[in-house]
Amino acid sequence: MEIKPNILLEVRHVHQIYTSGSRKFTAVQDVNITLQESEFIALLGPSGCGKSTLLRIITGLQKPSEGEVLYRGKKLQGVNPYATIVFQTFALFPWLTVYQNVELALKARGVAPNLRSSRAIDLIDRVGLDGFENAYPRELSGGMRQKVGFARAMAVEPELLCLDEPFSALDVLSAESLRGELLELWISGNIPTKAILMVSHNIEEVVFMADRVIVMDKEPGRVIAELKINLPHPRQRQSDSFRALVDEVYGLLAGQTQPESAELGSEPGQPGFTRRLPNITISNLAGLLEYLADKPNNESDIYRISEEFSLDSDQVLRLTEVSELLGFATVAKGDIKLTPLGETFAEASILARKEIFASRIRRLPLVRWLLRMLQRADRHALELDVVKMALELEFPPEEAEKQLDTLISWGRYAEILAYDDSEEKIYLEHFTEKEPLAA
Ligand code: ADP
Repeated sequence: MEIKPNILLEVRHVHQIYTSGSRKFTAVQDVNITLQESEFIALLGPSGCGKSTLLRIITGLQKPSEGEVLYRGKKLQGVNPYATIVFQTFALFPWLTVYQNVELALKARGVAPNLRSSRAIDLIDRVGLDGFENAYPRELSGGMRQKVGFARAMAVEPELLCLDEPFSALDVLSAESLRGELLELWISGNIPTKAILMVSHNIEEVVFMADRVIVMDKEPGRVIAELKINLPHPRQRQSDSFRALVDEVYGLLAGQTQPESAELGSEPGQPGFTRRLPNITISNLAGLLEYLADKPNNESDIYRISEEFSLDSDQVLRLTEVSELLGFATVAKGDIKLTPLGETFAEASILARKEIFASRIRRLPLVRWLLRMLQRADRHALELDVVKMALELEFPPEEAEKQLDTLISWGRYAEILAYDDSEEKIYLEHFTEKEPLAA
């Protein structure tokens, strides 16, 4: 047998298929990842690209539909005893003190009673919670509770520490200080952890922390790129080299403008892939287009937008996706640039904006499909539930609901749809007028 002493984890051709009602969909497609000792890798991608699913598969909490996970060269059977996960919400017992919460983790791991006390105190110390041993979780800030979460995870002395968006539930300052503290623990070798795998959808965070970033995309969830982050610690967020890497990662995620058929997708019930409408607000979209219109050359680095608008990278990517989808902007190599249409929109009056938006969304297969159903319906009206059920043939229920919300809010803004909340019915806005629809 081939010996690969430094390889801790190998994910080989992993696929995950979920069933939702009668519908099957691929949440993870042919993912291959190798993690070496001393490596800190990050899985980055938009919500729904299968990051959490992969983490569950890697830790053995879930068996993949296809493919395998090897840990130190051996096929993983059941839960991985060498790995542990820290989740974004702090899974602490509220009725136990900090000390008792950590001690319980030691007990669960089978540490002898006489050793537990000193180990618990030591762990609490190491995460910087010295003096808070007897505090209850409710007395602690979010950042401190997450530190207890880390101490509990360390209690298991995991070789592989998996972090599932561990900073995303914290306020900006606590998140930043905790990132620094975790990095310090990791780099100083003060913890027995041999490798870290962190799931994130925050681009700046992964460039700040990881040695290697695995970039994923959704529909289906898959790896689209890998990037090494060869910057020494502590990394300077304002430095040119940091900014250049952040920019590069945005470029990988936002992708290039595709041919129209691929860009738009197909209608529900038709062969091919039905593209989801990214969930954004029109005011944010308008804000983005106005911002770009004010920039030299009408373009900007995508990463700057998240700073400028205080939006997280996920929201920014959804906004750039909609801008592209509607033809208001093109995206290339981490830059977004207004098209003449986007420029026109940015400079238009409220009414003219609605018209432009209406004409653009009428091209979208999902919108066309809904308008056609409404045209055929009695009095050009449909019950909300009927449309939702039809969407559920295409999307999982939660997603179907989101798609419906987006369709209604975009359609109302464009004044092509009306919605009556008390009756829960959708109408064609000008139902006497025949909509110019493709068959
Ligand atoms: P991420 O962590 O990147 O947001 P997830 O792994 O949570 O992605 O989910 C990937 C896709 O699989 C999503 O569309 C999600 O709705 C779906 N999904 C996740 N878990 C299940 C499940 N147990 N059953 C059905 N669908 C699921």
